[in-house]
Amino acid sequence: RQSLPANLRNAIAQMSPAKDPHDLDNVEYFFREKLRVWCRVANGQWNLGKIQSTSVDDVCVLLSNTEEVVKVSVEEIFPANPDILEGVEDLIQLSYLNEPSVLYNLRVRYSQDLIYSKAGPVLIAVNPFKNVQIYGKEFLSTYQNKALDAPHVYAVADAAFDEMMREEKNQSIIISGESGAGKTETAKYAMQYLEALGGGSFGVENEFLKTSCILEAFGNAKTLRNDNSSRFGKLMEIHFSAKGKICGAKLETFLLEKSRVVQLCNGERSYHIFYELCAGAPQILIERLKLKAASEYNYLNQSKCLTIDRINDAQKFHKLMEAFNIVQIPQEYQERAFSLLAAVLWLGNVSFKVIDNENYVEVVADEAVTNVAMLMGCNSKELMVVLSTCKLQAGRDCIAKRLTLRQATEMRDSLAKTIYASLFNWLVEQINISLEVGNSRTGRSISILDIYGFESFKNNSFEQFCINYANERLQQHFNRHLFKLEQEEYEGDGIDWTKVEFKDNQECLNLIEKKPIGLVSLLDEESNFPKATDTTFANKLNHHLRANSCFKGGRGQGFRVCHYAGEVLYDTNGFLEKNRDPLHVDLIQLLSSSKCQLLNLFSSKMCYKSLKSATISDSMNQTVITKFKGQLFKLMNKLEDTTPHFIRCIKPNSNQLPGIYDENHVLQQLRCCGVLEIVRISRSGYPTRLTHQELAVRYGFILLATKFSQDPLNTSTAILKQYNLPPEMYQVGYRKIYLRTGLIGVLEERKKYV
Ligand code: ATP
Ligand code: MG
Repeated sequence: RQSLPANLRNAIAQMSPAKDPHDLDNVEYFFREKLRVWCRVANGQWNLGKIQSTSVDDVCVLLSNTEEVVKVSVEEIFPANPDILEGVEDLIQLSYLNEPSVLYNLRVRYSQDLIYSKAGPVLIAVNPFKNVQIYGKEFLSTYQNKALDAPHVYAVADAAFDEMMREEKNQSIIISGESGAGKTETAKYAMQYLEALGGGSFGVENEFLKTSCILEAFGNAKTLRNDNSSRFGKLMEIHFSAKGKICGAKLETFLLEKSRVVQLCNGERSYHIFYELCAGAPQILIERLKLKAASEYNYLNQSKCLTIDRINDAQKFHKLMEAFNIVQIPQEYQERAFSLLAAVLWLGNVSFKVIDNENYVEVVADEAVTNVAMLMGCNSKELMVVLSTCKLQAGRDCIAKRLTLRQATEMRDSLAKTIYASLFNWLVEQINISLEVGNSRTGRSISILDIYGFESFKNNSFEQFCINYANERLQQHFNRHLFKLEQEEYEGDGIDWTKVEFKDNQECLNLIEKKPIGLVSLLDEESNFPKATDTTFANKLNHHLRANSCFKGGRGQGFRVCHYAGEVLYDTNGFLEKNRDPLHVDLIQLLSSSKCQLLNLFSSKMCYKSLKSATISDSMNQTVITKFKGQLFKLMNKLEDTTPHFIRCIKPNSNQLPGIYDENHVLQQLRCCGVLEIVRISRSGYPTRLTHQELAVRYGFILLATKFSQDPLNTSTAILKQYNLPPEMYQVGYRKIYLRTGLIGVLEERKKYV
């Protein structure tokens, strides 16, 4: 017997189809048969090869492509799948569910433009970054007629629709993935399918796409990761009648990135609408809004990026006007909305002059401030006062305190952000009015969730924290559902269900949500404490949260959280301010005194504390994180009440280019969006499932004709016996047979020698 070091023996035994990982026979079988393995070579790439020999820590592998023999460490080798499994539709069909095999399988499919695959119940969509001929009229009807069942977003929408009609149960399609992975496009295809199905007219220009056009103009922007990045989360709930016809829809949005209105990174843009307006407004509007070219506005020109390759902003503006009309936003309101956009742009050009040795400022009375006042419908003197002073309560008197340059700039930017965010919310309301749900009975709806995926950058701030918190919640929903599905499938087919272990992320959610000592509570506590700073906040976290295993302190202002998708280092810098999101009462008063009805409407919606306690740091009643948490809870409650369908979008490269499959980038996402977790869960059970018929077709030739039984179940058992497979490696269900990891590989190998 070949004597092997223990770690190697374990590693190989895990790969080989043995129930007992210490079963040496199987290790020897693996060597004897010289099965193929994936091994990671020096440049980090995975290569195919065959094991030649072993030493204490290393394995010598003969690489298939170069015929070179390389030494690799035991941790860097995994068994490869037999050829018959190359490019399978469902990753669960792979006998060896390791990272290189999953990566390879997706690569093979991607290279043939098969951008959709399945990982058990989850659809994986790899962004093609080019037009692939798999959408439109023909495909819509093919999927509707069930003439095709290849993985596709249409198939997911179809399954959701069928289940909704059959079970009268609300459905959800939950789409996640990193920025640029294709969530919004995928959501649009799902809506297109449902609209075709529930509207009865295939391929017609539809209302959902028009609402997307408006939302994208106001809520999407070019970022370094995606030329059309959604800067908000959204849930579209589509309601159907008893006959399966669409009878309305409801849109809900989450956490718009307001800071983008006033501050941009180099190479990024603000919201598309600003550039579209500047490029496409007709002369009459230009004059009325005193519009100039985008390059003239400080809020837009600061990032040195005004256009997007292959995008014509003027044309987009005309499309938007069409969409406005379809959504039936009255002309008069459209014009008010454009005035406010122009007011925001001009606000960015408002400047201050420093008086009295930089102690305080005055607004420069130029065309910028005049235009802002005109466009906002307010008095320009009043505007100048509001932008440069703040009222303070001193005893019974109210005194005006002059602002420093920094405070005045913040005040100005705060006004711009507030107007824009209010306008965005108002548009969402208008869209909702036009999509109105006649009778909102539940039981027949499909909700499509397009929400930011897990983020981990070099610098992670409050925004990443909110996003990752949302993902942590969604992941828990996902785990629970998946686990339940597995169990149901086994039980439904009469299979002995021995508990499959699965990783829960409750500990991390506790870290975030637990009261009174959790990240959210502590953040709110510090946000309400005027003297607190980002450093005192970081200290507080380090002091209170150490006991949670998902919390790791950091140096200075940092802290680390072990999320399900990996560890993230957050920088508390700016956390308190972003969470407080202060809105000065003077600004609200200014809006309410305006002649613009939209601004009056916005101001009436802003809840604020009594006028008396107005100070510059005075916050709205609820902090941002608390509001977000509340929204998230509502969302989760809604989703709990649905049958979920999951789609994970994958971005194959970070250059937004077709045909490039960057393995490391893909691998990182597979880990983040839990694909490998699905694989892991499946792996601990019986990942390979074949119907009795499939088994008979593929492997039945080994049986003598007399051994074929009427009962497909008996035939399957006979076939498996004939191949001499250990009985603990498979189970025979009513409909299917279930094979342990790797067993199908053994069947394939043995088939060769029959
Ligand atoms: P973000 O989180 O930044 O909003 P996202 O996941 O919503 O990103 P999308 O905007 O949907 O990403 O996709 C980015 C780009 O990828 C699209 O503008 C489009 O060019 C391309 N793309 C995505 N999906 C497809 C597809 N199915 N076919 C062709 N191109 C696609
Ligand atoms: Mg998007």
